[in-house]
Amino acid sequence: LHRFARRTAHFEWVDADGIAGLEPDLAGRFRAGLLFAEEAHLCPRCAMKALVRRLEGMGVSFHFGRNGRNLPGGFHVTIDCRGFAARDLLPELRGVRGEMLLLRSGEITLSRPIRLLHPRIPVYVVPRGDGLYMVGATMVETDAEGPVTARSVMELLNAAYSLHPAFGEADIVETAAGVRPAFPDNLPRVHRQGATITINGLYRHGFLLAPAMARQAAELIFNRMQSSERAK
Ligand SMILES: Cc1cc2nc3c(=O)[nH]c(=O)nc-3n(C[C@H](O)[C@H](O)[C@H](O)COP(=O)(O)OP(=O)(O)OC[C@H]3O[C@@H](n4cnc5c(N)ncnc54)[C@H](O)[C@@H]3O)c2cc1C
Repeated sequence: LHRFARRTAHFEWVDADGIAGLEPDLAGRFRAGLLFAEEAHLCPRCAMKALVRRLEGMGVSFHFGRNGRNLPGGFHVTIDCRGFAARDLLPELRGVRGEMLLLRSGEITLSRPIRLLHPRIPVYVVPRGDGLYMVGATMVETDAEGPVTARSVMELLNAAYSLHPAFGEADIVETAAGVRPAFPDNLPRVHRQGATITINGLYRHGFLLAPAMARQAAELIFNRMQSSERAK
């Protein structure tokens, strides 16, 4: 914990009583922890649905399931957010596989994401409401797709169980795996290649970093439009 604390910021130390005060169901289980009071979390699926609704309301049209085919053409700018599939334009991209579980338990209540300092997996348990808990995520240096492996299920369940034994009785509601797109330095990039702007390499932080990346892309487009308008 002390080694981790040296590499991070914006936290306060909490002792066993502090942990019990913040998360009563974890009372007596841990002697110390770090509280990131400003940390927030969201439900990614709800966020995506809300974004689509909002953007449709603003006149944006979505064409799902076309894989880039049969789309209307003639745009001034294309923003390519194909993730790992954009290797044709971004050959440096690599895939980092991540797996997660969704558990349901009526026996434990957590009110904030809890991270465990696990030697191999940076595991976190995120309450999603209605007794649902997302347990994630593995980090495997491969772009292999396919279902969650038995080893990963064991490791994630072990981690959840070590956080609280009540997770041993939880229902496994869902397992899922995905490939995170990452550049060699694990940092995201917004890049312009002609009339195409690529946003990629969001690695483990796509939801966290999306607003900043979108802002950078919007600035690129806006500046480009301004300069072409001035040229007219
Ligand atoms: C298990 C797991 C847990 C994670 N947890 C977190 C977390 O807690 N917080 C966080 O911030 N991030 C998290 N991430 C990372 C986050 O999911 C990624 O950073 C993010 O999804 C990257 O977004 P992206 O849009 O760049 O790529 P992607 O999410 O890969 O999206 C690319 C999309 O492009 C589509 N596509 C591909 N080719 C085409 C084509 N030709 N035409 C049209 N569409 C195409 C794909 O179908 C896909 O929907 C997690 C990832 C995993 C796997």
